[in-house]
Amino acid sequence: MALKSAISGRVIEPQDFEYERARRVWNGMIDRRPAAIARCVTVGDVIACIEAARSDRLPVAIRGGGHNIAGNAVCDGGLVIDLSLMKQIVVDPKAQTVRAGGGVLWGELDASTQQYGLATTGGLMSTTGIAGFTLGGGLGHLMRSYGLACDNLLSAQIVTAAGRLLTVNRTENHDLYWALRGGGGNFGVVTSLEFQLHSVGPVLVGGSVFHPLSAETLRFYRNFMTSAPDALIVYTGLGRGPDGVARVGMRAVFNGPLNDGEEVLRPLRSFGSPIVDDIRPRPYLEVQRLVDPSFPPGRRNYWKAHFLTELSDDAIILAVEAFRRAPSRYSSIALEPMGGSIARVGVTETAFSHRAARYSLLILAGWEDASETEANVLWARELWGRLQPMAAAGVYVNYLGGEGEQRVRDAYGPNLARLSEIKSKYDPENFFRMNQNIRPASAEGLASGSSHAHR
Ligand SMILES: Cc1cc2nc3c(=O)[nH]c(=O)nc-3n(C[C@H](O)[C@H](O)[C@H](O)COP(=O)(O)OP(=O)(O)OC[C@H]3O[C@@H](n4cnc5c(N)ncnc54)[C@H](O)[C@@H]3O)c2cc1C
Repeated sequence: MALKSAISGRVIEPQDFEYERARRVWNGMIDRRPAAIARCVTVGDVIACIEAARSDRLPVAIRGGGHNIAGNAVCDGGLVIDLSLMKQIVVDPKAQTVRAGGGVLWGELDASTQQYGLATTGGLMSTTGIAGFTLGGGLGHLMRSYGLACDNLLSAQIVTAAGRLLTVNRTENHDLYWALRGGGGNFGVVTSLEFQLHSVGPVLVGGSVFHPLSAETLRFYRNFMTSAPDALIVYTGLGRGPDGVARVGMRAVFNGPLNDGEEVLRPLRSFGSPIVDDIRPRPYLEVQRLVDPSFPPGRRNYWKAHFLTELSDDAIILAVEAFRRAPSRYSSIALEPMGGSIARVGVTETAFSHRAARYSLLILAGWEDASETEANVLWARELWGRLQPMAAAGVYVNYLGGEGEQRVRDAYGPNLARLSEIKSKYDPENFFRMNQNIRPASAEGLASGSSHAHR
């Protein structure tokens, strides 16, 4: 391939020994065979990839951290623009900002910013990519304090479908700046992102209390969160312990002084008789890795998501009963409380519109053996369907699989028409379509799912 001599990074093709590894993403359900994977090092490499894909008429996928459940970071028979070598991180402690390359992972960004006692809203797992995460919104431990990751995005550099490098921020290319904060990878290849940082930690109160699986614990959780300050976030998961027994885990993180954290968390820790209580002062970097062991790469995964404006008694009972029937010990149901700073941003201020949601509910089916796929997918779909009457409109784009056109519309909600206009301006031919696709307004229909639907 001519691209080999045109870029300073490496082009990996099917005959190369790294190919099998390089084409894998986090979700073991994804098994795609690109024609080539271009590991870019510079912005010039990215521009060369776009030119090569155009002249060879190859479909293009963009890879940040490779964590997306839908697997759109890879494509069959096309060119993967892989940013995993673009790792530059520059912290400006005085301005409290950081600029990072499009291939940086959250663990890497957190480690660099914490050297100065700073952080921004990042992923729960250290191995998630900052780019795909932020472009879809970005839910994390600090979101009730400081907003979503996209709310902290100050500027970005992006290579468009025409191969032009643009800077986007409040004053330059403002329409694109708006679209990148929730519109996903539809508009070009983001080569670097600049974030607002905040003083965080370095030690804060965090950890989990685990209880036997019961509706009562979830009702307590709901009531407790009703009066929680913005500095507190408690994620709740229905899962299984090391002994395989079903349990409810409430993982709390208090972003503030340690004494205040102990005080605020006292009612949570005094509730019932926990099986385990490991809440204690911990380095922020440790908090940001608590979830890592639960979601190893390579396992088979299928997710379904809702937003909820309230956590009703009926939804709680449904979730508890369905969880008891989960076919795999690796499956879980997660509740992510929103509100706080997220809700103080207007629905149309950024492309991410789901500002009124109180919870994100995620059904995570995970299993190892291919023969168990049908049972696990069915379990997740059935529970999702039964919860639908209690759910709010919309879905978080970063939790979508290949679920078809209506779900893509739901993900962009009231901002779809404007996103579609901006797509027309920057990518009129829909060159970047390996994503939860926004069609250019000029094209027939507004949105379609990625080409690999597995509802
Ligand atoms: C185990 C696990 C934990 C997660 N935890 C959270 C969480 O705590 N909060 C949350 O909000 N989400 C979470 N997610 C979802 C996550 O936000 C999405 O999967 C996100 O897309 C991951 O970004 P990535 O760069 O790693 O993914 P990739 O798979 O590399 O990219 C996903 C898509 O984003 C686009 N994209 C990626 N990089 C670029 C770029 N540089 N320029 C343009 N487009 C790009 C492309 O369209 C690509 O197909 C989690 C996912 C997993 C698997």
